[in-house]
Amino acid sequence: MTSAAKESTPTSEEVDAIVVGAGFSGLYMTHRLKKLGLDVLGIESGTDVGGTWFWNKYPGARTDSEGIFYAFTIDEELSPNDWDYSEKYPPQGEVYAYLRRVADRLELRPAYSFSTTVTSARFDETTARWKITTDTGRNINAKYFVSAAGILSAPVDPGYPGADSFRGQCVHASRWPEEGIDVTGKRVAIIGTGSTGVQLLPELAKTAAHVTVFQRTPNYVLPSPNKQYDDEDRDYRHTELSTIRDGIRNSSLGMPYTPSGRMTMDHTPEERIAIFEEGWANGGFRFLVETFDDLWVNVAANDEAAEFIRNKIRGIVDDPKVAEQLCPKYPYGVKRPAQGIEFYEAFNRDNVSLVDISETPIAEFTPDGIRTTTEDLDFDVIVLAVGYDAATGSVIRMNVTGRDGVRLEDKWADGLKTFLAMTVNGFPNFFMILGPQAPTGNMPSVSEGQGAWIADIIAKAERENADVIEASTAAEGEWTEHVNAAAAMTLVPEGAKVNSWFLGSNIEGRAESIVIYMGGYQPFFAKATEVADQDFEGISIS
Ligand code: NAP
Repeated sequence: MTSAAKESTPTSEEVDAIVVGAGFSGLYMTHRLKKLGLDVLGIESGTDVGGTWFWNKYPGARTDSEGIFYAFTIDEELSPNDWDYSEKYPPQGEVYAYLRRVADRLELRPAYSFSTTVTSARFDETTARWKITTDTGRNINAKYFVSAAGILSAPVDPGYPGADSFRGQCVHASRWPEEGIDVTGKRVAIIGTGSTGVQLLPELAKTAAHVTVFQRTPNYVLPSPNKQYDDEDRDYRHTELSTIRDGIRNSSLGMPYTPSGRMTMDHTPEERIAIFEEGWANGGFRFLVETFDDLWVNVAANDEAAEFIRNKIRGIVDDPKVAEQLCPKYPYGVKRPAQGIEFYEAFNRDNVSLVDISETPIAEFTPDGIRTTTEDLDFDVIVLAVGYDAATGSVIRMNVTGRDGVRLEDKWADGLKTFLAMTVNGFPNFFMILGPQAPTGNMPSVSEGQGAWIADIIAKAERENADVIEASTAAEGEWTEHVNAAAAMTLVPEGAKVNSWFLGSNIEGRAESIVIYMGGYQPFFAKATEVADQDFEGISIS
């Protein structure tokens, strides 16, 4: 090697573990690995901690989970009763503040390199180390590589022709600028009616001259019965923390909601309506969990729920044509239902209109706005609320390469394969939090549960001076089969017809493969615990 070449060879840093991401998952993982005495480097693209709650500063952004259980259970260091959200469904700013406080209390910031993005990660078989490169020119060797890069953090680019010609401001909702966008008196377009578009509309409509919603597939939007928490609510959380946590542990969605024990068709139409009404009033995920136990699995039951919600839409929206356009015609819950505050009501405002782009698709962006197949509409601001490459996108974009030069993207080309959503055969010492095949629901609970399991297996490897932790092909195959079978028992595969991110169907060209574990939160962690208790059966630690 010439001396010039030598000089240009970047020096490598050595750490024990790299954790990508500084949201709930990354902060928890970094904390646990630091506690093991490992030298941990956190890498985060954003300028601060917060993850989802750092990026999603769009107006109306708030949780769909109740604040009483949207937090860590790291009690010793965090004193859980020192923190209360002010609202039942906390707004973005409060969750962001919570995570900043967590990072400070656990002294996690010094472990992080902010404004840094991983550009490649390659497992070196000769040294059994991950070789990580970043967009800031860093080369890091690490024994362990944990992706805590987010389940919904890789934004979709809809790639409209003419996008660059638009003279106004166009922003993906998840890249809403820190300084905000003043839409007062402006003509605004929102493209997309998933959870993000649903939260944005009522907020933007308050001040914009006009908001036009471009809807391709209508969503089921359940009410989010928000309120200010009062002393009674706070007392309840402080005194019943262990009850709440038991409820989470035993739940299907990581939320302390008790299934009803009822089957829809066992009840008279009148009884069904009364139960759905109660579920509607309780809102959000309570409708799914607490009304009937068979909405996700029984077509007739689902039809009843779906028609109930459609009738709610027809009752709220004044214009019957708009109401009908807003009514979903596919089963409830096969696409992630949204939660909204006055979403349907917003369509009764004079300054809100709907364009049904399933009938008149967007042809292109123009310098002045959007051209559909039938009209030109002028805008000052276009908001893309078009979603994410869920669970896989944030991992794949790091260009992860395992044994024998196999890229993770290629391994998953014909369908997702993991063992317990956290490990992948052929990718030793690589772990994922909120990766594909994980349960969904209350994300902080899932993040913590997975982070704890990963910390435990790493602790075992360290105790045993092991170099390599790797799931077996058999364990991966069995788990994947189980995940696919669990999905097949539900109506969720129907979502493929309506671009559901649950199946990766919102990404063009992606092989249909269930992204989430439909077996639920409790069964997932029961299985993970069983594996751990049996000396991490299915995983070689060598
Ligand atoms: P999403 O649910 O994937 O919705 C994307 C929307 O954009 C859909 O209406 C989709 O239409 C539309 N779309 C996508 N590509 C398009 C295109 N090229 N042209 C026109 N329309 C297009 O995305 P999201 O709303 O950002 O939400 C994603 C997930 O993030 C949610 O399901 C939820 O899990 C999470 N989230 C949670 C919260 C919360 O908990 N408070 C808030 C926001 C997001 P099609 O349906 O026809 O594809």
